[in-house]
Parts: sequence; structure tokens; C-alpha cells
Amino acid sequence: MASPAALPGEMQALVLSEEQVVRFVTVPTPQLVHPGDAIVRVTACSVCGSDLHPYHGRERGIARDCVVGHEFVGEVVALGEQVKALQLGDRVASPFSSSCGDCFFCRKGATCRCCHSQAHLFGWVSEGEEQLPPQQRRGLPGSQAQFVRVPLAEGTLVKLPPDVSDEAGLLLGDILSTAFFAAERGEVGEGACAVVLGCGPVGLLAAMAARFLGAGQVFAVDSVPERLALAAELGATPLALAPPAAATTSAAGAAPPASSAAAPADSSAGADGAAAPEAAAAAAGTAGAAAEAEAAAAAARAGVVAAVLGATEGRGADCVLECVGSNGALGLAYELVRPMGTISSVGVNTSPAFPFSPVDAYNKNVTFRSGRCPARAIMTRLMPLVRDEPGSESGSGSSGSKLPWRRIFTHRMPLSKGPAAYDMFARRADGCVKIVLDPWA
Ligand SMILES: [Zn+2]
Ligand SMILES: [Zn+2]
Repeated sequence: MASPAALPGEMQALVLSEEQVVRFVTVPTPQLVHPGDAIVRVTACSVCGSDLHPYHGRERGIARDCVVGHEFVGEVVALGEQVKALQLGDRVASPFSSSCGDCFFCRKGATCRCCHSQAHLFGWVSEGEEQLPPQQRRGLPGSQAQFVRVPLAEGTLVKLPPDVSDEAGLLLGDILSTAFFAAERGEVGEGACAVVLGCGPVGLLAAMAARFLGAGQVFAVDSVPERLALAAELGATPLALAPPAAATTSAAGAAPPASSAAAPADSSAGADGAAAPEAAAAAAGTAGAAAEAEAAAAAARAGVVAAVLGATEGRGADCVLECVGSNGALGLAYELVRPMGTISSVGVNTSPAFPFSPVDAYNKNVTFRSGRCPARAIMTRLMPLVRDEPGSESGSGSSGSKLPWRRIFTHRMPLSKGPAAYDMFARRADGCVKIVLDPWA
């Protein structure tokens, strides 16, 4: 084991104590467990839409007080004896799960399906597992912390060159890779008409990816006005789902936290055509208002479909990139895609059934692709897109690299403000799109 200085016995981290309760606490610093491990001193981490699944209780079974988070960059500060390809002091980025780099799936570029026994998602230890001795645990504590243990370090970590910033490294490890995965599997090509459903961080980056891959027209669908405005700034044509007027009218006054805020994945409840009117109605609390909200939502949805059909001589979009993760969004994707078109779905969908039937799929010759992004296999390839261009000032606006990825980051906060960060991100308050947390501020 190589370790320049003894690690502190304790560190600060964010843990999920119960539904919607994230706490900033002191926990033991992780130690090397396997000879292929590394310990990374986290210099930046971020809050992801998929962190909201256990936060809102949509995904269950996480151990109480598990350290959360899976997006991080940092510096290698300890290495197991088997790790030869990394050195102490290396600046590294990581995908959201560990992978060996050597099994059947890793060799095929499907690193998210690595079958090594130490291949796991960061930020998820299953209930009960925290009682086991470290060598027997499979789940990984998360990276919204000062230090994180990375198993299979050689297969997992990617060295960052000096002209790739911490923020860029965070995007590579998950959402930028996921966005390109969505667009490439959606077969976005030269001149294509692409529709992006959901303008959260992944959706906005997917709109960028679609343009980068040559799409002739990119529509961006959401219900949050600030997010639609950002999509427009990035060159997409914004299409509003739930009309803001209806939403604000019905939710006027004290909107409960479950109104337009509680949404799947990194994206918007509004893009889920089914959920929005119910939520708005709950806020209003009357049957009349419910019917009104439902009618408004249906009208907005019909407007989205009409806009896309109108732009494609009635055919529909060549590709729909579904970045929400709900059956409402998936059903809309089916409506929007043209015959022989492709639906590419990267939103985490927890529904047990499809909103369209096998005969629907057959009758439109739809290609449907879905699943978790093999980020480790993609991030190296995308690195040139996020390098700071020579002469550009790091962190300056959107012109410093090949993609305007910096527009995604709206907030930078110390890790100690993590509980507030989760709350703001979950409610989409304050124009929040993507938050970076600094564990050492
Ligand atoms: Zn993520
Ligand atoms: Zn593997």
C-alpha cells in the first residue's frame, strides 16, 4: 500500500438519514479494503438527478445514513498494492460505478454491466449490508464526502489532464457521457429532427450533443420556464408542456413540496404528461381546478405534438431522446417519433410496464433503446470536447471549449450546505440546474 501521509480518521460527508433528510455529518474516513483499491481525496462533487430517487423514496432499500453521491473528481491519496497504472497525486475523474476493464462486458464497452464482484454504484449500500465486515460489503459509500474509496481503481478512474477542469471531469463521469449515449443511441445524424424530453442537466446536455452530432433541428420539451430558456440559449427550440399560467394559478399560495417540484430523474414532472395535472390539482385541492389543470396540460401536450408534426411535414421526429424517466414521457416519445424512428431513453424509469404496446411498436417500426450509460467507456472519448481551449479563461462563460457545457452549472456551494443543495435541486428553486459541492470549503 502506498500512502504519503496517514489519512485523517474522520471526514465530513453527506448521508441520507431518511426520506428527504440529507445530513452533513462526520464519519470514519474510508480505508483501502482490496489490493486494487484507491482512496481519492474529493476536490469536487455534484448532485445528480438520480440522487433524488432514494431522496424521494422512489428507490428503496438504501442503508440508513449511507454516504450518498456518485459524481466526483479528486486526487489519488492512497493506493492498494496491485494498482500500477495510477500514482499518488494523480488528478482523476470517475464514472458513477466501478468496473474492472477486463471482463466480457467491459471489453465490449459495456462497463456499466461489468460482472466483477467489486463493480458497483457509488452512493448505494443496501440495508443490512453496512453490518458486514468491509471485505464482504459490495455496495459503495458515496462521493459527496471528503474522501471516497474506489475499488478496481485501474479499470475505473481516468486521469485528467490539466486543461480539463474539475467541473468538466464531473460531467464526463456521468451526465455528459449519458447525454451523448442518449444521442448516439438515438441515431441523431446530419440534418435530423431530434426532440429532447426533459430539460434537466442531462436533457440540456443531450440537446448540445444532438446539435454537435449534426441535428438540423432540436426541440426541447419541459415545463420549467428557466430551463426552457436555457435550452433556447443552447440552440434548441423550446416547447412548453404544462403552461406556466395554469401551474401558477392552481398552485398559488402555499404550494406543497410535491407540486411541480417532485419529479423523476434529473428532469421535470412537467415532461411527464400524466403526473403534472394531478400534482397541480393536488395543490389546488378542488375538482374543478383539477379538471382545468388536466385540460390545460392536455392542451399543452397536444401543442407539443402539433409543433413537432408541423416541423416534419406530419411525419414526426427522427429521434426522441427521453431524459425524464417516466411513462408519461415515454408515451409522449412514442407519439412524437416518426415511423422507422428511434426512441432513446436514458431517464431512470421505475414503471413495471410500457405505455405503448407491442402492436404500437410494430405499427410504427419503432426502434427503442434504453438503459444506463457505460460512462467509463465513453468519457475518454468525450474529453477533447470539454478541454479548455488555449487562451480561454477557465470558467469564463460558454466559449472556452468545444461544447458550451459550463452553462449547465448554476450553483457552487460548500459540502456543508449539501442539505440545502438537495432541497433546492429537488424543488428546482432559484433557477437551479446543476450544483457543484466543494468538500473543503
Ligand atoms: Zn449522476
Ligand atoms: Zn468488467
